[in-house]
Amino acid sequence: MTIHATLSKQAPKIDRVETFLVDLPTIRPHRLSVATMEGQTLMLVRLHMSDGIVGLGEGTTIAGLAYGPESPEGMKLTIDTYMAPVLAGCDPTRIQATMATIGKVVKGNHFAKSAVETALFDAQGKRCGLPLSELLGGRMRDRLPVAWTLASGDTARDIAEAQEMLQRRRHRIFKLKIGRHPVRRDVAHVGAIKAALGDRASVRVDVNMAWSESEAAYGLKALAEAGCDLVEQPVSSAAALARLTARGLVPVMADELLQGPASAFDLAQARAADVFAVKIEQAGGLLAAGRVGAIADAAGIGLYGGTMLEGAVSTLAAAHLFAAFPHLAFGTELFGPLLITEDILAEPLDYSDFELTVPRGPGLGIALDEARVQHFRRDGARRTLVRAVTPAGA
Ligand SMILES: [Mg+2]
Repeated sequence: MTIHATLSKQAPKIDRVETFLVDLPTIRPHRLSVATMEGQTLMLVRLHMSDGIVGLGEGTTIAGLAYGPESPEGMKLTIDTYMAPVLAGCDPTRIQATMATIGKVVKGNHFAKSAVETALFDAQGKRCGLPLSELLGGRMRDRLPVAWTLASGDTARDIAEAQEMLQRRRHRIFKLKIGRHPVRRDVAHVGAIKAALGDRASVRVDVNMAWSESEAAYGLKALAEAGCDLVEQPVSSAAALARLTARGLVPVMADELLQGPASAFDLAQARAADVFAVKIEQAGGLLAAGRVGAIADAAGIGLYGGTMLEGAVSTLAAAHLFAAFPHLAFGTELFGPLLITEDILAEPLDYSDFELTVPRGPGLGIALDEARVQHFRRDGARRTLVRAVTPAGA
């Protein structure tokens, strides 16, 4: 008997693919340049396997369809209709081969792929008795610095919130979402916050591509003078981003332009950024995000662990990958679970001393609280939790 035949004979099967939506309230409306989030919807996937192991994954978007082309509802449909038949015939212990087969049947749909791949890794980790970080190359650190986004738009309120976070020792890296107002007004907002916090905190901004190149040329210089440490995706074009990066005023980070390894290579080759914001969903899953990290490393580009404001499941999947990155110079923004007021985990995550602890248990190292999941699970159609931003910026 060949080795392949032996493996095939012993390989478990995926008996059932379960997908469902969970609607969770958030601590406050979260204001972005594209929309205001009034709550968060998680698409959870559970792969029930013939050896009794259940793998868990999550797909979550920022503000429904306002940020990108996938929605939680669409991910559920994609997995149920197009991925489940592939999963039914695959060997779930061969994660790369399974995802490659799915890739032949399903183009794009990075978020849905990330959810399924996470579930495969969670199951494999449980099967091997290893945390995900060990399956992803090996853990370099047990705890990750976590930035907090100040998104009220009100300077005094943002300063008060940052002061409280510092006092509670929960965050000392603050990211401000700017780009909705004229550049000078935004820069004044950032400068006032940095002046109030001083050396106790790192202040960074995310412009979400809202600036023209000339606005950004002025903005980067003014932000550097105001003490801002990092400017995320100030403009939309890679060429303009590269010209701004070359000025060397303040580190520039790519986010929206990073859609997986191929785009990471193009950006690295053009030296379009000093830092990459790696997001497992945007990259197309843990393996693709790992490749983005490797390209950055090889090019001497710094790494930052980004988020799509995911719930605990996908946040921890990302945390395991970021824990395995050789270098993580700019920390992470894995605060998604902190925006949600209702925990659906049996044990809450450990956010303390400005950092998130990466669990040591097998797989993701977490378990759902089934009663709470059932309570918040969406049954049938209901209103969307996202509303569009009005032009007045209400
Ligand atoms: Mg961003």
